[in-house]
Amino acid sequence: MKHIVPSPPAIVQNRFSAIQEMFHKHVIPSYGRFDLVLSHGLGSFVWDVNGKRYLDLGGGIAVCCLGHANPEITETLIEQSRKLLHVSNLYYTEPQGRLAGELVKLIAPGKCFFSNSGAEANEGLFKLARKFGNSDGRFEILTALNSFHGRTLAGLAATGQEKFRKGFEPTTPGFRHIPFNDLGAAEKSLSPATVAILIEGVQGESGILPATPEYLLGLRKLCDEKNLLLLMDGVQCGHFRTGRFQSFQRILENTANGRAFLPDAISMAKSLGGGFPIGAFWVREPYADVLGPGTHASTFGGTPLGCAVALKVLEVIQRDRLAENVRTVGEFLKQELLRMSRTYPGVISSVRGLGLMIGFELQPNIASFKNSEKSPGLQFVNRLHEAGLLAIPAGTNVVRLLPPLNLQRSEAEESIGVIKSVVSRIS
Ligand SMILES: *Cc1c(COP(=O)(O)O)cnc(C)c1O
Repeated sequence: MKHIVPSPPAIVQNRFSAIQEMFHKHVIPSYGRFDLVLSHGLGSFVWDVNGKRYLDLGGGIAVCCLGHANPEITETLIEQSRKLLHVSNLYYTEPQGRLAGELVKLIAPGKCFFSNSGAEANEGLFKLARKFGNSDGRFEILTALNSFHGRTLAGLAATGQEKFRKGFEPTTPGFRHIPFNDLGAAEKSLSPATVAILIEGVQGESGILPATPEYLLGLRKLCDEKNLLLLMDGVQCGHFRTGRFQSFQRILENTANGRAFLPDAISMAKSLGGGFPIGAFWVREPYADVLGPGTHASTFGGTPLGCAVALKVLEVIQRDRLAENVRTVGEFLKQELLRMSRTYPGVISSVRGLGLMIGFELQPNIASFKNSEKSPGLQFVNRLHEAGLLAIPAGTNVVRLLPPLNLQRSEAEESIGVIKSVVSRIS
């Protein structure tokens, strides 16, 4: 029988060029990829095909929330795949029902729909909003500048960054962008056609920018007054990444009226399956039945295999109190990075984030980066790779850390050592 968790081959072959060549020949070149060919991982570490080890603080862009090759995820995959991989949504299955119940328990009374990705989860939010406003002719969704909501045509229209839409015009109608964390701008931008406002609790792709408590509470009030849906994209910042299940729960936890706050719908994906592709959106009562029979569907959505894995991920996170780990290890990383920014103000200009969603901003004119066209973020990440650490660029000047939620303190200390070595070398 084949081993389920692949162990590193005894003699690591240099497959680097051969694998890159297959990509150059046969994979559509839509991604800017780093010169790394990864072969396997364990916990917070991954190895490339040359046998080099990396601390993985990118976590597959906030996906691998329990690290790599987690034995409990593996076991669940095996167990569920022996019973049922997939059946159509023409039928009921227990894992989907149970997962919806768990998500509702973690947010508030409402219902869930399951998709395969974040972009698809957001598509569900757009359809919910349009259906909600359809009878009185409203359809327009306001989203934030510098937001990111996925690569489908509607996702691109929602995304508040011109560069993603370029070349794919005409843009899907019905979306307009407003400055983030600016309540006055939201009020002023409403039109008679506006039906919803969509924001990320913490903007991820554009550089780790959390919403303020005042903004969240203000948007809720505005949406209540104008009969608009308040939608939140929790694809990257959700799933305990900030130290609470959803980012708004963390952002508002110390405010007087924060406990009463709820968006009307939330999209999820990334960490939801811990690496298995699954997305979802939750809709609160009384809007949970707006998308009635026949209005929305997905062949693979809520497959028993995906839901069983997502249930296991939630169970492990809660059993092992990983939300607390996110807070303590996240705070350690943030404080150490802040300290570094004070020691090397010519390299790191600021540090932001919540829990294990951390970004540090690089100075725009670092001398060592002058000779390359590449953005400072990209150049810094390349140096981190050389030093044995994976991180993710965001925007042009920010480096993002989105490690597994079970990152150990010792691994965080090792990470800080690696980052410091790179910072001191380029300072
Ligand atoms: C990644 C991301 C998406 C898109 O998710 P996909 O699974 O890539 O479609 C949407 N919104 C946010 C905030 C994201 O970070």
